[in-house]
Amino acid sequence: MRSSATSDVCDLVAERVGLEWCLFLDRDGVLNRRVVGDYVRSWSDFELLPGVEAALRTLTRWAPHTVVITNQQGVGKGLMSPEQLESIHARFLEQVTAAGARIESVLSCMHREDEACACRKPRPGLALTWLREHPGVAAARSVMVGDAASDVAMAHNLAEITGGCTALLVGDAVTDVRPDARFDSLADLAAHVDNCMKGETR
Ligand SMILES: [Mg+2]
Ligand SMILES: [Zn+2]
Repeated sequence: MRSSATSDVCDLVAERVGLEWCLFLDRDGVLNRRVVGDYVRSWSDFELLPGVEAALRTLTRWAPHTVVITNQQGVGKGLMSPEQLESIHARFLEQVTAAGARIESVLSCMHREDEACACRKPRPGLALTWLREHPGVAAARSVMVGDAASDVAMAHNLAEITGGCTALLVGDAVTDVRPDARFDSLADLAAHVDNCMKGETR
């Protein structure tokens, strides 16, 4: 296991007990399998990674709010329609609910990279807008989980504005920006969180 010491995760858990805070999750490579060299264009392309449903049950018991933040420039490139993307997300959310977990929303940047919008990661626009719409949430306690450097960089960019955002990296990407901790997968992260939550209620 390459993840940081369990005690670090337990600090993350302990620091958030009783607070309103938001867990931001990347989509491709964290929740579902990346389609290499292409985009997930339809429900049949959307394949959850092993253990994700159980991981979401655990993580959404931990986090009072869970929001998915995803770059989907395939829409901006005309490779799929916004409706196709939204229908994938609607079915995903149904599946999550049926599995006993709870994701509030899936927020997508549909712009192309060259459009230089404010919402394509590593820019923090989607998370920032969500946090501004939820003023009761402790923005500086946000946690971002992703599998790419742009996710870690987004966490850092968000933290510069809000005062904090913990960056957790899953998988084995080589990044020039340092996450706060690394895990093999979302399931690995959830297993650590689960252990820490058991400690909290002892
Ligand atoms: Mg990703
Ligand atoms: Zn955008």
